[in-house]
Amino acid sequence: MLQDVLQQIEQRDRFVLTSHARPDGDAIGSALACCQVLRSMGKQADVVLHDGVPRIYRSLPFADQVQQASRIGGSYEAAIILECDSIHRTRLEGLENRFLINIDHHVSGRPFADVNWIDPHAVATGEMVFRLAREAGTPVSSEIATCLYTALMTDTGSFMFQGTNEHTFALARELVLAGADASHCARSIYFAHSVAKMRLLGEALRNLNTEGHVGWTWVTQKQMDLCAAKEEDCEGLVNYVLSIGEVEAAAFFRELPDGRVRVSLRSKGKLDVARVAECLGGGGHECASGCSLDGPLAEAVRPVLEMLRRGPSVQ
Ligand code: 5GP
Repeated sequence: MLQDVLQQIEQRDRFVLTSHARPDGDAIGSALACCQVLRSMGKQADVVLHDGVPRIYRSLPFADQVQQASRIGGSYEAAIILECDSIHRTRLEGLENRFLINIDHHVSGRPFADVNWIDPHAVATGEMVFRLAREAGTPVSSEIATCLYTALMTDTGSFMFQGTNEHTFALARELVLAGADASHCARSIYFAHSVAKMRLLGEALRNLNTEGHVGWTWVTQKQMDLCAAKEEDCEGLVNYVLSIGEVEAAAFFRELPDGRVRVSLRSKGKLDVARVAECLGGGGHECASGCSLDGPLAEAVRPVLEMLRRGPSVQ
């Protein structure tokens, strides 16, 4: 499949790259790196995202070149969609009639494109972009390595999620050898929060609940407004719930301005939260998944907790 992707790239010159809305580290890191790989192959390539680059990823190389838009225009010959299971999740218009290449590592990945390279064994989509660069024979510059290291670090939960193994560290080593500054990458992500995010964390911890192996919390739109928090400030709050000793599965619920509810799920490994999210119309990985549900908040919480309470039997 990698060969197919490479062949399709070689036959074309102008590419647009994108990922899912509310992009995370793997979405941003793999899109930026893939864009640079294409440019080193002599192609014209742009990254376009619906939501732009969250604050903690803005210091990544070439992040300032990312275009924020709700529609893809222009005479691109193909769109490469990374880390995303559908056109819908990009929240971009103008992709429908283009030649699409899908590069994704989710178990819940779907073959929605003309060429689909889905590898659930890859720990991050960034790992697949690294393999693409190798296969294309393009050098992995320190800038590309930095973007890919960030993708790898964030999608493995700082090398803590289940599935992190010797291959993960072998890849991390290759990226550091290629010039990624591991401590700088970590500092930019984990020590660069906004004051609003810290205030929101306070609100979320005030709403904390635990019941046996399940922990959950939420923030309302009112609390978001009170803290002057942005959507991106919610990223990672669920991990504080999972950090509690007896909690095996954690949920974070966020009320959206339109009344719907975004759900982030995390597991320490005993419970497959991808299955829970899939049952509710979302997706993700065994240890990190998400979905969107109809409000109100109290109604959205109920089915999620019901499934998490059932524990491993949910599988
Ligand atoms: P987060 O909780 O950080 O928003 O998402 C965790 C993981 O679940 C990410 O890998 C993300 O791509 C996936 N995910 C979150 N929400 C959805 C969703 O609505 N649909 C699908 N397919 N995947 C999701």
